[in-house]
Amino acid sequence: PDMMKQVEAGEKALDTDFPLEDKFEHLPDRPLPRRAPSAFLTVQEGCDKFCAFCVVPYTRGAEVSRPPERILREARELVERGVKEINLLGQNVNAYNGGDWTLAQLIWALNDVDGLERIRFTTSHPNDMSDDLIAAHGECEKLMPYLHLPVQSGSDKVLKGMNRQHTAEHYIRLIERIRAARPDILISGDFIVGFPGEEDEDFEATMDLIREVNYGQAYSFKYSARPGTPAAERSFVSAEVANARLQQLQALLTKQQRALQEAMVGQEVDVLFEKKGRLAGQMIGKSQHLHAVHVAGPDLQAGEIRRVRVVNSETNSLGGELL
Ligand code: SF4
Repeated sequence: PDMMKQVEAGEKALDTDFPLEDKFEHLPDRPLPRRAPSAFLTVQEGCDKFCAFCVVPYTRGAEVSRPPERILREARELVERGVKEINLLGQNVNAYNGGDWTLAQLIWALNDVDGLERIRFTTSHPNDMSDDLIAAHGECEKLMPYLHLPVQSGSDKVLKGMNRQHTAEHYIRLIERIRAARPDILISGDFIVGFPGEEDEDFEATMDLIREVNYGQAYSFKYSARPGTPAAERSFVSAEVANARLQQLQALLTKQQRALQEAMVGQEVDVLFEKKGRLAGQMIGKSQHLHAVHVAGPDLQAGEIRRVRVVNSETNSLGGELL
């Protein structure tokens, strides 16, 4: 009627408002396709740390965090689609600051999402392990007792050359604080051997740090120059020396990983089953500590979490029986 009056008065009438009623509301909901029980959810991208060997700050740019509301909405959608475990992903994930939330605040909000059973996050920088994140490891029920916290080297000289912005002592004390909050936490790390300027005593300092921390899992690499990074301009450790150091370091890490796995034998763990195993009737899943666990369970479904007694330790997995 208002528009008619405008036309009768010789004015142009134009209504560009959308109808309040959403026509799509009448369409039936399409069921969302099911997802595997464990999913990654990107919460942060980029990095401001500029480690001397790394291309991420150049290729991915500055740190950017996604808004927490969107992450929570996506997490609920993932849960509706069958996801039980969310691994929050970011190149420097513990620097998360979306909407001024810390990563710990985001984890606590996810802890309240019904149907979500497990939360993990990766990858972190030691300098961004804030007090609230350490406390969350001790208090947040759904945050799993596993932390990937790369250190790269145990030598302060090499850490300085890498521009890691912390010392070996700082890292070791940090691990102590994290373990005080969550004594059974499994620590995972990254190591680079043969970084430019690494001498025998620097390598020995890395071996000492590994002995002190005792890793349950680790990734180790021989340094290789990334074009455009500051370290690429420096003189290399010979390939022969770097190879020998890598072998020695990996032998120690493997020994620690095996010992921690063997210590699980006889213990009870909760396993989130993900897929069928190689053998008929076998199912494979992950424990809270991210150990792969296989059991005989022909009736088990992916997505079930079941109590399992660990009965043996193999090269990269544990064997168990359902309780
Ligand atoms: S903190 Fe990680 S992502 Fe960032 S520059 Fe260092 S190694 Fe690269």
